[in-house]
Amino acid sequence: MSIVENLERVREQIAAACAKAGRSEADVALMAVSKTHPASAIEEAYAAGQRLFGENRVQEWEAKSAQLSLPGLEMHLIGPLQSNKTNKAAGLFHTIEAVDSLRIAQRLDTAAQALGRRLPILIEIKLSHEDSKHGMAPQELPALLEALPALSHVIPVGLMTVPPLDAQGEEARPYFRRLRELRDQAQTRIATLTHLSMGMSHDYTVAIEEGSTCVRVGTAIFGEREYSQP
Ligand SMILES: *Cc1c(COP(=O)(O)O)cnc(C)c1O
Repeated sequence: MSIVENLERVREQIAAACAKAGRSEADVALMAVSKTHPASAIEEAYAAGQRLFGENRVQEWEAKSAQLSLPGLEMHLIGPLQSNKTNKAAGLFHTIEAVDSLRIAQRLDTAAQALGRRLPILIEIKLSHEDSKHGMAPQELPALLEALPALSHVIPVGLMTVPPLDAQGEEARPYFRRLRELRDQAQTRIATLTHLSMGMSHDYTVAIEEGSTCVRVGTAIFGEREYSQP
């Protein structure tokens, strides 16, 4: 299957999930997660009309973006961000999705201000007890929401999560539901916080039923990833 055919199939399944959930297709964005795949794969998806993409490493996108000139392409950072890369990230990405501390938000705010831009951010929530998972615990969210309005150059636009690896498909549903509840609460404090970035190749239709506004799909579009590189 080609990238173009895969994209078509994924878009069809998104449409079907929206119909099932009684939601408008316009309310669910498809992000093509291109990590580990070459710049040429991004070009192929772009040629098929795809504009929203996700990468999980700052340096990987820095290298690929130097090979590309694609007007209107919107790249989100979906992987954890180290504080020494916040300046670079603020210049390379349209949106930063995996903010999980006030410290990172503050650094991004300073970086965005220096660049004269306003930077959309999503807060990553960790809903499982896996030590390996990134993200902030739900109990920490209220304090962050309290502090964010003081930062004038980052715009909190939503929450994102990655369910535990062993909770695929239907088993991911409770995590998606929980994130939606947290978003509903958070939105009463910060009105711009409307997005729910949730759902990946194995569970994006479930995520859409639970209110996802952006599904992050890699494998189902670009094929399996190879992690042979160091
Ligand atoms: C890799 C990745 C995805 C895409 O995963 P697939 O299972 O390939 O669809 C989505 N979100 C994040 C945060 C990722 O790192």
